[in-house]
Amino acid sequence: MIVDLTTFSESTEKYFRFTGEIDQSEMKFLDREIKFDETIEYEAEFFVLDDGYIEMLLKLDMAYTEPCDRCLKDTENIQNIQLSGRLIEGTEEDHYEEGMENLVFYQNDKFDLGEYIKTQIMISLPMKTICDEDCKGLCSGCGTNLNDSTCNCIEHTIDPRLLDLQKFFPKE
Ligand SMILES: [Zn+2]
Ligand SMILES: [Zn+2]
Repeated sequence: MIVDLTTFSESTEKYFRFTGEIDQSEMKFLDREIKFDETIEYEAEFFVLDDGYIEMLLKLDMAYTEPCDRCLKDTENIQNIQLSGRLIEGTEEDHYEEGMENLVFYQNDKFDLGEYIKTQIMISLPMKTICDEDCKGLCSGCGTNLNDSTCNCIEHTIDPRLLDLQKFFPKE
């Protein structure tokens, strides 16, 4: 989905709105088994300001399933993302010094909304999926799901959250 920005500047309208869906098969996640439950819907609103700048407000709704990082159970995540930014001609490198916060780049009066959305989805997804804050995970010894049952290994008796805490105590 490419937005031709000349249609904005040639129009007397100050507001433009696009809605659509992103084809999830185009989304590639290295090392992650993410499945989108439905299509990813977007709404992009463009506001032409009096000084000629264009502000964009983007809303994304998506639901996806990914195995829990601890116990591998398929877990559904719902993400509603809202972003806003000012469109600016050039690339990230051109505007490095201005700080990239809230800048949305385009070249030659064309803004690739589809690419932008795909990148934002990648950036916005949490690093991990956890089925439950208290998920006990799988036993590192025998693979038993410790949420459902126990096993006779010793390793798993340390709560993963306590393992993190251990770092703060000097080893004797
Ligand atoms: Zn889990
Ligand atoms: Zn075990």
